[in-house]
Amino acid sequence: MKLFRTELASEFKDKLFDIESVELTDDSIVAETQGISCILSAERARYGFQLNGNISTQISLQCDRCLISFLENHEIPFTFWLTSDKSLIGTNEINVFQFEPNQEYIDLKDVISELIFVDIPFKILCKENCNGLCDQCGTDLNKETCECEIHN
Ligand SMILES: [Zn+2]
Ligand SMILES: [Zn+2]
Repeated sequence: MKLFRTELASEFKDKLFDIESVELTDDSIVAETQGISCILSAERARYGFQLNGNISTQISLQCDRCLISFLENHEIPFTFWLTSDKSLIGTNEINVFQFEPNQEYIDLKDVISELIFVDIPFKILCKENCNGLCDQCGTDLNKETCECEIHN
C-alpha cells in the first residue's frame, strides 16, 4: 500500500484502500487475512503528515484447542504520523515513521501487517468455551463425546 507524497500533500478524507492479503506467521501463529480494506484520512501536520484510519479484515485462524480453522472479523483503528524530524523518530512514540523530504512515497504494507498481527489474541479459540480434542483419542469434544476416562 503505497502513499505518494503528492497524494498526502493534497490531503484526503475517508479514502478506501484495498490491500492484498498478508500472511501472518511466526513461531506460534499461523494466520492469513482474507483481503484487507483500509479507510484512511491524511492531513498535513506540523512535522509532516498525520494519518487516521481503520483496517477491516477477516483473519483465518486455527483454534488452539480443537484445531479447526475459522474466520474472525477484525476492525483496527489507528493513528500515526510521518515525519522527517529525527527528534520525533525513535522516541517512545511507536506510531511515528520516518518520511524524508526526498522520499516520493511510503509503503505501509509492513506497518499494516504489524497492526493486524498485534490484534490477534494470544490465545486463539474458535469460541470461548471450546471443548477441544480428547488428548487420548482425538475426538472433537464439541461434536461428540468419547469413552476415554480423563479429559484435560
Ligand atoms: Zn475450538
Ligand atoms: Zn477420547
